[in-house]
Amino acid sequence: MTDLWYSEYHTDDVRFSIKVTKQLCSEQTPFQKIDFFESETFGTFFTIDGLMMVTQKDEFAYHDMITHVPFAVHPAVKRVLIIGGGDGGTAREVCRYPGVKHIDLVDIDERVVRLCQQYLPQTAAVLDKDPRVHMHFEDGLQFVGRAQEGEYDLVLVDSTDPVGPGEGLFTNTFYQNCYHALADDGILINQHESPYYPAYAHEMLRAHSKIKNTFPIARVYQFYIPTYPSGHWLFGFASKKYDPIVDFQPDRWNALGLKTKYYNTDLHTAAFALPSYVREMLEHGE
Ligand code: SAM
Repeated sequence: MTDLWYSEYHTDDVRFSIKVTKQLCSEQTPFQKIDFFESETFGTFFTIDGLMMVTQKDEFAYHDMITHVPFAVHPAVKRVLIIGGGDGGTAREVCRYPGVKHIDLVDIDERVVRLCQQYLPQTAAVLDKDPRVHMHFEDGLQFVGRAQEGEYDLVLVDSTDPVGPGEGLFTNTFYQNCYHALADDGILINQHESPYYPAYAHEMLRAHSKIKNTFPIARVYQFYIPTYPSGHWLFGFASKKYDPIVDFQPDRWNALGLKTKYYNTDLHTAAFALPSYVREMLEHGE
């Protein structure tokens, strides 16, 4: 009997492994290597260049927290830009808001979308079912550089790590282009990496200081996801106008009646209360 494991090195001497019951596919695209696996505990999951992207069992934590936090703050999101997010999980959550009129999803690699439609319909099924979703297969940096001033109410950066094709999404130019593409009351949410292991914390701080130099309001919030390095992950909340706590509207959000597995309005404010070591890092650097 074969004993097949997926292992990811979270540091040089720490690794995380999942027992694989079946490898579903492995494909090298012009941009990256994509692998899909099946497992007992996390269901179907996929990796890009050997790094965990999405598992069927814990994707709800990531997709709830990237989406519902800004929607509970901004009272009228109509136009949304998703950068990356080819698995469709973020688009699925955005599509739950009837007030949203138009969603542009820009992923550099069409194969991520097509393979997720085949193997991970839980996240990808919405992509060709909801007519508000418009898919574009190109570099997010280029796309947002061409956007009109104030075109979007919300930009969600659902990217890979800042290596390979994702690198350009962690630059000053990218964040400045996002600022330009956002309306005067627009919000940017950025996949902000983990504060725990130094290599990830370093990238988090680099991204955060660039966002802080671009947007008048730049905050950080946290959530827990077992399959990402250390399990402790962050998003950046940046905006021209709204403060994520002062302008938070729990009653308005609760009145929508959305059932969510991770996000709730009690947790919203708490997510911005960071552990002391993370606060210190954000204030004083590494
Ligand atoms: N939640 C995941 C995580 O943090 O690990 C991210 C998931 S999503 C699959 C990331 C997507 O970003 C991938 O599909 C990848 O193709 C896309 N991507 C990477 N670089 C990009 C770029 N420059 N422009 C647009 N999409 C990009």
